[in-house]
Amino acid sequence: MLHHTGRIRPLHTHHGGRNPISVIGMTVTPDRPTPTAAADPAPSIIDRFIESNRAYAVDFRDGGMDARPVQKVTVVACMDARLDLFAALGLELGDAHVIRNAGGVVTDDTIRSLTISQRALGTRSIALIHHTGCGLLGLTEDFRRELELEVGQRPQWAVESFVDLDGDVRQSMQRVRTSPFLLHTDDVRGFVFDVHTGLLREIH
Ligand SMILES: [Zn+2]
Repeated sequence: MLHHTGRIRPLHTHHGGRNPISVIGMTVTPDRPTPTAAADPAPSIIDRFIESNRAYAVDFRDGGMDARPVQKVTVVACMDARLDLFAALGLELGDAHVIRNAGGVVTDDTIRSLTISQRALGTRSIALIHHTGCGLLGLTEDFRRELELEVGQRPQWAVESFVDLDGDVRQSMQRVRTSPFLLHTDDVRGFVFDVHTGLLREIH
């Protein structure tokens, strides 16, 4: 199908010289057009990343910092798209480690990153940030059971959903403070970020 070449071509002309490879994994035959063949899809947002990055690199200056965060702080926060941590907290490039996941939950993997952050890269303070309107507020552990029914295997991880936002922040602080792996647990503070006002509310 000719209109398919419009989709495949940009994927290899950037790299030059290579034989065309069907990255999308379809065998396209003239007599059996695939359902997606009719429309010329918009470029992926990730294609835009590549363009934006070229522009970014033009003005980029290596600040000469090493890997240790200047403010010796790690922020654990939800991955929510409305939460711009650097702007909301007045952080600059190089200031902090940022660990994000669904909910800003303190999982074993969060502890893994915190441990490396403190023991290998010199951070001391930990700020935990949950937020109003979190996607995890509506979920239950039924999510896992439904997932198991659909795909035939139960995920290893807990969904870590919650109904009590403040309570969950307290539980996260507790998990950090009781971790045997961390060097510094004296400056651990938790907050709820309000996605409507942009304000942090500290949880005690
Ligand atoms: Zn969230």
